[in-house]
Amino acid sequence: MRRLDQLLANLGYCSRREARSWIEAGRVTIGGEAANDSGQKAAAADVRIDGEPLDHPDGLLLLLHKPLGLVCSHDEREGPNIYSLLPERWRRRNPAVTSVGRLDKETSGLLLLTDQSLLVHRLTSPKHKVPKVYRASVDRDLSPDLVPLFASGTLQLEGEAHPCAPAELRLLGPREAELTLTEGRYHQVRRMLAACGLTVLTLHRARFGHLALDDLAPGAWRELPLDEFAARF
Ligand code: URA
Repeated sequence: MRRLDQLLANLGYCSRREARSWIEAGRVTIGGEAANDSGQKAAAADVRIDGEPLDHPDGLLLLLHKPLGLVCSHDEREGPNIYSLLPERWRRRNPAVTSVGRLDKETSGLLLLTDQSLLVHRLTSPKHKVPKVYRASVDRDLSPDLVPLFASGTLQLEGEAHPCAPAELRLLGPREAELTLTEGRYHQVRRMLAACGLTVLTLHRARFGHLALDDLAPGAWRELPLDEFAARF
């Protein structure tokens, strides 16, 4: 049970002050009865606004095909961001919808978004070793020697105390590879390849755990069932 004004504000409908005027105007019902007090406690499932049930009151989980050129930051000063792709109301939710880890501005691909901080924690914790699959193209030919090096768990990144965990590298072409990581260090793919003298030209995340983009277009997202997903991680 939550205070009605807080519930509506946290789901991004309006400010708490506006919630009061919506209630006064008779737009809000609880269990079919007109609400009469913004401080009234209600279960989200019983609340209707203009006859409509509340929008995802128990949380959101989205799978986004991140396009190139957008940052994964809420800070508008960092430039156009992925949140601009979401409906306005979802952008006003509290807790905020945030990405599960980040992809660089110039990386495309699969990105999860949720307002469930526990889920973010579980999915990004190195303890859980969720595999993430990237496709990279590079500026020079890839040596087959990189495969055992990446698998060895000895690759050291500049400025890091510990070597990278073993990673699976599959060569797809002379300058193209698929890399599966179970950790998520800052700019990890670019830095692992840079440690071998290679510059990444394009980078795309194809999979996150058991999830793939399938035919989702860049900039598009689809909802995932939160309860099913949370039970899995
Ligand atoms: N590794 C990178 O270098 N960049 C990303 O966006 C993701 C993984």
